[in-house]
Amino acid sequence: MPGIWIYSEDSTVARQLLTAGQELKKTTDQSVNVIAITDEAAQSLAGAGADKVYLLKGISAWPESYAGVIDELLKKEQASVVLIGATLRGKDVAAKVAAKLQAGLVTDALTVQFVNDAIETTRLMYGGLAICTEVVSLPALVTIPPRTFAEASETAGQGEIITVEVTNEDSRVVISNVCPIVREGADIATANRIVCVGRGLSKQEDMKLVEELAAACGAEIACTRGISEDYHWLPNDRYIGISGQKVKPELYIGMGISGQVQHVVGIRDAKIIVAIDTNEKAPIFEAADYGIVGDLYEVVPLLTAALQKK
Ligand SMILES: Cc1cc2nc3c(=O)[nH]c(=O)nc-3n(C[C@H](O)[C@H](O)[C@H](O)COP(=O)(O)OP(=O)(O)OC[C@H]3O[C@@H](n4cnc5c(N)ncnc54)[C@H](O)[C@@H]3O)c2cc1C
Repeated sequence: MPGIWIYSEDSTVARQLLTAGQELKKTTDQSVNVIAITDEAAQSLAGAGADKVYLLKGISAWPESYAGVIDELLKKEQASVVLIGATLRGKDVAAKVAAKLQAGLVTDALTVQFVNDAIETTRLMYGGLAICTEVVSLPALVTIPPRTFAEASETAGQGEIITVEVTNEDSRVVISNVCPIVREGADIATANRIVCVGRGLSKQEDMKLVEELAAACGAEIACTRGISEDYHWLPNDRYIGISGQKVKPELYIGMGISGQVQHVVGIRDAKIIVAIDTNEKAPIFEAADYGIVGDLYEVVPLLTAALQKK
């Protein structure tokens, strides 16, 4: 019986995909099944409204060890569409499973719907300048970025959990060592307020200005690509944009940032955008809710002082 399938190694993202799956279910009445790789995730997703949760047991955390199992499961159960969280690992799994299934794969979709026995998706192209609509025949795989859909409530239902004992694990890849990425401060992707700095800042010592403003408004510090990749003033996980992080803060304050599309695509979902730049024609002002045309070396200390007084 064809079904809608969901997979993410991150159970928060899986619950977001569950919302997308439930929307699809309304138009086809297919069941919504989730693949989980931990007991905790399986419990949470069964409670969040999945009809069935397939819990893979006996796998390693390495996608090579379970992409084949997912492929077999999807074939056996005749999946019609498979929604996969577009995390680094999710994209890896999606590509492997699509190749094994010989199925079409759309990446980073923002919407997904059934249209005439096929799947129609939309996603951004050219750094967000255009929306691309694609139609994929079934079975289809679609990766969806984190936070595209709201999380399904963990009390939405009580689905069945089916344990799948994996015995034919691919042992060609083994984990010999794990080196966690050490992050300084919070993850900017989930920050509520962000102070972002661009190449308008002339030297690294002046980062103090940025730090003081961030401290005054309780914000995380982020930057444009050049500040991290070229100048190395901030780590790479701090830059925002098409090849960096996508952020969704309540408040984004950008200073000395021209607002090229590759950066702006990463702040599109910020609620309030404030821009400070000397060039009144800088494209950042087209994206901004509030713009201050001025020298950041004059404006930022005034703003910081005003916020500190509050
Ligand atoms: C394939 C590709 C992917 C890319 N991905 C990303 C990405 O993910 N993220 C990203 O950020 N970029 C990305 N880029 C780079 C992007 O195109 C821009 O070059 C970059 O965003 C510009 O950074 P910036 O605004 O800091 O610098 P600039 O464009 O040099 O702008 C500096 C701004 O500072 C202003 N300024 C100067 N002095 C002052 C002052 N004293 N006070 C106030 N304002 C001042 C100037 O008027 C100017 O507007 C990518 C590029 C390519 C080709």
